[in-house]
Amino acid sequence: MDQTLKIELGKQGVFVTTLQELYNWGRRSSVWPMQFGLACCAIEMIATTMARYDLARFGAEVFRPSPRQADLMIVSGTVTKKMAPQVVRLYNQMAEPRYVIAMGACAISGGPFKQGYNVLKGIDRYIPVDVHIPGCPPRPEALIQAFITLQKKIDGQHLTGADRPRHLDANAQGEFPVPEFGEHDLEPTSNQGVWPVEIQGTGNREQGTEGHSQRLTCD
Ligand code: SF4
Repeated sequence: MDQTLKIELGKQGVFVTTLQELYNWGRRSSVWPMQFGLACCAIEMIATTMARYDLARFGAEVFRPSPRQADLMIVSGTVTKKMAPQVVRLYNQMAEPRYVIAMGACAISGGPFKQGYNVLKGIDRYIPVDVHIPGCPPRPEALIQAFITLQKKIDGQHLTGADRPRHLDANAQGEFPVPEFGEHDLEPTSNQGVWPVEIQGTGNREQGTEGHSQRLTCD
């Protein structure tokens, strides 16, 4: 509908919307995070829910203790290789539509422990991440910015067509393989479909099909 007409009707007290706008509004206004944290970044996540930052303004203050009732996984902290399988398993247990925010340098890349033998170099190797937040640790404002970015992303989604969200695509991958300890490292070392895979023999890297993430930048 023409935006000018819509505004004119609004002035007369007539509100017109589409099912898509209503559906997206409902999803973006009730993103409930899962209640878990991994390391120091979790303290900043906790601070975001307190009165000073008041995450309730975004409808996201209800941290759920069960993955079955959560829409959003905030990976806040260092993901050790011992913990990575549990994080993937919890993600698999969440119902669609579900989202992931990777919070902090550790969650997005291994951070200060990147060279450590025991730390995963980014959770996006195993599960699809919607928003990456850099920083060590990112402040609560950065997490709020990530929420706003996620809300914008949900708002812009089309319910039909090739670019429809994963939960409306019957062919989309629902569960992701849970890595296990092999002889030297986690196996598989990444999940195809979410992490760029090397095209054999070419040296080129191809983005996985689920890799539609957004990265926040530090000012
Ligand atoms: S990014 Fe920094 S603050 Fe966050 S978990 Fe890693 S070391 Fe801790």
